[in-house]
Amino acid sequence: MVRIAAAVILSLGLAACQPEEPPAPRVEVMQNAGDNRVAKVLFGAAPRPTAQAPAALGAYAQGCQAGAVELPETGPTWQAMRLSRNRNWAQPITVDYVQDLSRFAATLPGWNGIYVGDLSQPRGGPMLTGHASHQTGLDADIWMLPATRLDLSRAEREAISSITMRRASGAYVNSDWTPQHEALIRAAASDPRTARIFVFPGAKVEMCNNATGDRSWLNKVRPWYGHHYHFHVRLNCAAGDATCVNQAPPPPGDGCAEAQEWVNNILNPPPPTPRDPAAPPVTPRGELTMASLPGQCLAVLNSD
Ligand SMILES: [Zn+2]
Repeated sequence: MVRIAAAVILSLGLAACQPEEPPAPRVEVMQNAGDNRVAKVLFGAAPRPTAQAPAALGAYAQGCQAGAVELPETGPTWQAMRLSRNRNWAQPITVDYVQDLSRFAATLPGWNGIYVGDLSQPRGGPMLTGHASHQTGLDADIWMLPATRLDLSRAEREAISSITMRRASGAYVNSDWTPQHEALIRAAASDPRTARIFVFPGAKVEMCNNATGDRSWLNKVRPWYGHHYHFHVRLNCAAGDATCVNQAPPPPGDGCAEAQEWVNNILNPPPPTPRDPAAPPVTPRGELTMASLPGQCLAVLNSD
C-alpha cells in the first residue's frame, strides 16, 4: 500500500511545472524502501566518482551514475566552466561526445571550440542547485557564447557569463544569433548519440525557417523554457547499458509547427485555464529521497 502511494506521488510529480529544466521520464522504483534521506544532499557532497564500471543508473531526472569520467578542465577545443561546481563529470560516451562536438565547433568562423557548462556530479544524482535532470551523466549544457579564448583561468571561468540569444521573451533570436549557432546545433542534433536538444522556442523556429536540405535533425531539437544562454544536449543510453532508462523519442516530424505554437503563446499568452474544482489537489514534486532512486544508487553512494 505504501509502495503504491509512493508510485502515485512520483507520477503526479511528472505534471508539476519545472520551468528550468526539460521534462524527463520518471521511473517507478521500489528499492531502498524506507530510506527517506534527501538524495541531493548526499550526492551533492560526493567529491569523486566511483571506480565501478561506467553505468547510467535510472532516468535522466531520477538516477545516478557509476564509473563517471572527468571532462578535462581544458582541452585543445574546449574549456569546462564554473569548475567550483565540480560538475564536469559524465559517462564516457558523453565526454567523448562533448569533445567531438568541440572539434566541430572549432571549424566554425569565430569559434575556437566550446565552453562547456554543467555535465553531472561525480556520482550523478540530484543536485543541491539548478537542474532537475543531469543525474545520470548523459546531459550536457553547451554555452551559446562562442569560445574564443581557451586559456581562461579558473577565476575567469567563474566570472565570465554566457550571453543570451533571445528577444521578446524567447519568441525570437536576437542579433547575437549567428549561422554558426545553427551549424553547431545542427551538428549536435545530427549525431546518432543524441536523444534530444533543448533550446528556447524562438531558436527552434529560426532554425526551422533557415534549414535547407535534410530536415530530420530538427526532430531532436525541442523548444523549452530557459535555454537561451546555453543549449542542452541529452544523449541516448549507451549501447548495452541495461540499467539506463531512455526517454521515449520525440514525436515524428520536424516539430516546427509545435515550436511555432510555443512562439504564438509567448506573443499572445492564452488566458489561464480555470481549475476544475473537482480535480484532485496538485501535489508538488517532493525532494527525491534515496528510496525514490534505483537501488544501485545506494551502492554508488557507499562505494569508495
Ligand atoms: Zn541542462
